Parts: sequence; C-alpha cells; structure tokens
Amino acid sequence: APEVLTFGETMVALRGSGPLKLGGSMRVSVAGAESNVAIGLGRLGHRVAWAGAVGDDEAGELVLRTLRAEGVDVSGASRDDGAPTGLILFEPRLPEVTRVHYYRSGSAGSRLKACAVEAAFTAAPPRILHLTGITPALGPSALCAARRALRLAREHSTLVCLDVNFRSRLWSSEEAADVLADWMPYVDVLIASDDELPLCLPSSAPREVTGQAELLLGLGVGEIVVKYGADGAAVHTGGDELRAPARQVRAVDPVGAGDAFVAGYLSALLDGEDAAGRLDRAVTTGAFAVASHGDWEGAPTRAELPLLGAGAGTVVR
Ligand code: ATP
Repeated sequence: APEVLTFGETMVALRGSGPLKLGGSMRVSVAGAESNVAIGLGRLGHRVAWAGAVGDDEAGELVLRTLRAEGVDVSGASRDDGAPTGLILFEPRLPEVTRVHYYRSGSAGSRLKACAVEAAFTAAPPRILHLTGITPALGPSALCAARRALRLAREHSTLVCLDVNFRSRLWSSEEAADVLADWMPYVDVLIASDDELPLCLPSSAPREVTGQAELLLGLGVGEIVVKYGADGAAVHTGGDELRAPARQVRAVDPVGAGDAFVAGYLSALLDGEDAAGRLDRAVTTGAFAVASHGDWEGAPTRAELPLLGAGAGTVVR
C-alpha cells in the first residue's frame, strides 16, 4: 500500500520566455499541486500514489509518464475518453511577474469520478490521504470525489492532510468557505497561508491567526501549519505555536514552494519526526523549490537535502 495517496488535476504546462502573443517556443512539462506533492514525496523515497483523471490523449500520456518516471504509482489514475487533459500556459511578463492562463474548464481532471477514487483508495488504503482545496473547486464531480475520499479516510483511519490552496479563478471565497469549513472535522493536518485560514471557519471567526488556529483545533483538526512565504512557517498543535524561519536561498521561481513544503512536511511526519523536525524538512524542501526553475523539477532526494545552505561556488565532487 502507498504511504500517501493523493489526487487532483494535473495539466500539461507550457512555459514561454516572454509575452505569449509574440509566439516563439515553449517548454513542455506538467503541473498540478497534488502531483507536485507526490513527486516531492517520491524523490524523498516514499511510496506515493496519484489517482487523478487525464484525457485519453497524448497530453494525458505525458502526465502519466512523468509521474511514473518519478516513481509515483499511477495504477489508480483514470483516463476519460470524453474530455481532454487540461492545459496551463506560463507567460513570464516581467522578471517579477508571471501570468498564468488556464485551459481547464470541462477537462478530464475536473470530471474525476468518485468511483475511480474509491477504487484507488480501497485497492490499497494509504497511511495518509492528501487533498487540496483546488479539487472541490473544479466542478461537482471532482467535489464529490474529494468528499468520498474524506469519508473513506475516516472509515480506514487514514490520516487526512488538506492544503487549502485557494484559487480565486476557480471559485469565490464564500463558495470555498461553504465547502471547506464542513471538511474540518475530517482533517488531521491543515496546511494554509495565513490569509487562507478564514476559508476554513465560519464567518464569525476571530481575525488573528492564533484565535483561528484555536478554533480549528476545537473543531478536531490535529495540527495547523501556516505558511508565511519568505518569512517561513509555523505549526499550531494543542496550545502551542512553533515557528521556523525560511531557509535563505536565492529565489528564482516561487511557484511550487507551497507544494514542495507539503511534501517535506509529510515526509518528516511519515518518518515520525516531531513538529520541529516536520517544519524543518518543510522549509528546506520549500526553499529548494524557490531556488529551482519549474514547479517540481528541483525537488530534492533525501541525499540532496543537506546541499541547501552550501556556500556560493560549492562544487560537489
Ligand atoms: P505557491 O502557491 O507559490 O506554491 P504558497 O503561497 O503556497 O506558494 P509560500 O508560503 O509562498 O507558499 O511558501 C511555502 C514555503 O516555502 C514557505 O513557508 C517557506 O518555508 C518557503 N519559501 C517560500 N518563499 C521562500 C523564499 N523566498 N525563500 C526561502 N524559502 C521560501
């Protein structure tokens, strides 16, 4: 059985080098929050499975082939012959500004079926189920699949990790809160940016993070991990807050930092590390992502973890 099962939409990603409307060449890769986490965990040596849906097309083959090459089990993934694999275009517009264009509405990933998820789950119940708040925003079918997974996790005593990952292009904060607040009793590890915590709570919730975290713990969430970008992260368990600063790196591409962070956190959790150890690995894998181009390409193996922090000009022979 896998240590971690995850699913969600993974798209073909095309990256240009300047304004999209000028044309030119693009680099082809794949992108998806949950598959980024899966690849991160795979690189760290964990058994991980991804059970999303792709189109019955070459783009879908690219998604599955990439995941397979990274050691991710895709035996529970499904192919939808009635819808294409989604597409995402990255347009670097200024050194600091990348625009993202989605072609995902009606995609195979958004039509993921609850029965496919159920089959993947029950074939080999995992220790951890990892979901993001993107999946329920994709459409009614994907929402239903995510809900089914939450119920199965409860039945099988599988630990549930949810990364809120709010996407304002897919749904409003009111719509997100309507769904996510109801999920809290099912969630063991909640991962969010500080501004995403209110999406998990009733609208009357307190304004500060500590009060919000207390409320979430009261709803049954086991631990709340809050990401603060270049300012690091914190974990709230019981009455305590434990903070970790970000690792100092030269940032070249912030996209994917959150997913890499989740992979590091879950990896350390699987290894039985305490909260400090979990945060430490998470800020390390997060820093690897911002210091590398691409969403997941720079994810470290276990042996590479100590490379971070080596001085400029270090040559590893
Ligand atoms: P994204 O959606 O772009 O993947 P996110 O908003 O989910 O990112 P962030 O809070 O930006 O997540 O980053 C996650 C973690 O990655 C941070 O908690 C931090 O540990 C690390 N990180 C982010 N930015 C930097 C940075 N500039 N330098 C070092 N570490 C960083």
